[in-house]
Amino acid sequence: MKNKLRSLFKFYIDGGWREPSSGRLQEIINPATEEVSGTVLLGDEEDVNLAIDAAHRAFSSYSQVPLEERIALIERIATIYERRIHEMAQAITLEMGAPFYTLSIPAQAAVGLMHLQVAVASAKAYSFETQIGSTRIVKEPVGVCVLITPWNWPMNQVICKLAPALITGCTVVLKPSQNAPYSSQLLAEILDEAGVPAGVFNMIQGEGGKLGRILSSHPKVDMVSLTGSTGAGTQVSQFAAQSIKRVSLELGGKSANIILKNANLVDAVTHGVTLMMSNSGQSCTAPSRMLVPRERLLEAEEIAANSCRKIIVGCPMAAETQMGPIANYKQYQKVRELIQRGIEEGAKLVCGGFDKIQDLPQGFYIAPTVFSVTSNTCTLAQEEIFGPVLVIIPYDDETHAVEIANDSIFGLSGYVYGADASDAERIARKLRTGMVHLNGAPTNPAAPFGGYKQSGNGREWGIAGIEEFLETKSIYTAIS
Ligand code: NAD
Repeated sequence: MKNKLRSLFKFYIDGGWREPSSGRLQEIINPATEEVSGTVLLGDEEDVNLAIDAAHRAFSSYSQVPLEERIALIERIATIYERRIHEMAQAITLEMGAPFYTLSIPAQAAVGLMHLQVAVASAKAYSFETQIGSTRIVKEPVGVCVLITPWNWPMNQVICKLAPALITGCTVVLKPSQNAPYSSQLLAEILDEAGVPAGVFNMIQGEGGKLGRILSSHPKVDMVSLTGSTGAGTQVSQFAAQSIKRVSLELGGKSANIILKNANLVDAVTHGVTLMMSNSGQSCTAPSRMLVPRERLLEAEEIAANSCRKIIVGCPMAAETQMGPIANYKQYQKVRELIQRGIEEGAKLVCGGFDKIQDLPQGFYIAPTVFSVTSNTCTLAQEEIFGPVLVIIPYDDETHAVEIANDSIFGLSGYVYGADASDAERIARKLRTGMVHLNGAPTNPAAPFGGYKQSGNGREWGIAGIEEFLETKSIYTAIS
């Protein structure tokens, strides 16, 4: 992609673009070419303080703005977002390498618009006041919210927090991933154009490791909502605990995909591989452990390898590309290390691994990779790889399959394929995960999204997403 170098040297604070107080320059590398695509200034504690102060000042007035006006604000944001959606898709492809035509336009950028629309519909349907006897139950905004987001689905994660936060009357400080700064910068421009009141939305660029303590322990912050790694979630929780802030976490995953004995193996394995390799395997809900009946293991391996060979890996700007590079060098190295570990631990490499991708001398590319392992205890089956690496694990019977699926510190999503829908649903109810997809059913943006165990404690999207940002007040009235 030929782009002029981008320079992100200002933060959006208190209704305007402000120079960072000092800041450190970081180059952003295009993962498809390894060339510098731009530079971002990363903020420090002083910038965080300014942003939080602005959000704190704005809260008393913004929280009293009528719901209809807040809904109108989100609708204006949606209109401008839709107008600039092509630019948004470009920003996302440039910062994290998602294929422009097959992923950034139809999904990565589009999902941001969808969350804006779903938040509006959910707020319109939600009862912010109810009555129990003579007591009124009132739902109120939680306050100043810090939103911390990752790089893998940048606009999905930012907007599924931002839209409900703003619609409920919260004020926010957004700190997007330092590895995906372009899309949030563009989003700040969109909010500015939509006329978001000063201080209601603030955005600073910076490193979570450096700013995490101040963001999650600041006395003027009421809630921290983080999507990211389990390590970041632990640290945020520890800092936030000192002042009993609400903490909503959406963390890692190692989702099992149980293919039942009576399932159509070709369809189920092919679909599982396609889902796994989408976004180069960098999705928290990726079905990264495929559980197949032991007697059909070899067959499943062969189908998976054939499916991988058909995936078009290439430059994210080419129209036919289905899988792009890994989003950044750090993640690329991590995935390669885990592939190496798998080989050293004796896992059977079915396809991919360190195979070179033809015609791609530059870029953080990894071939769609499949391992077959004998036990769920190995590193490949336990650790979140966050790359295009599928692990196939054999099971003996249904009880064994459920046991393997639940043998994980994570509990984000699950997948079950079977000829009989009621069978699949019976198994879904035994999985300790926040979501389960039956026979390839897609996610529903109005249904709660979130995980069990170390996958987090939050629920986003739709009404559940609205409720994350609400406090509950009982107003007891005297019966006259
Ligand atoms: P990461 O944890 O490194 O970073 C995520 C965000 O947290 C970034 O903005 C980062 O700057 C910030 N951060 C990092 N350390 C922090 C700290 N100590 N305090 C405060 N903030 C901190 O994760 P990543 O590499 O950007 O994203 C990949 C991870 O995100 C994976 O584990 C993936 O499963 C997870 N994820 C989860 C979901 C979900 O909804 N459950 C969705 C997408 C990604």
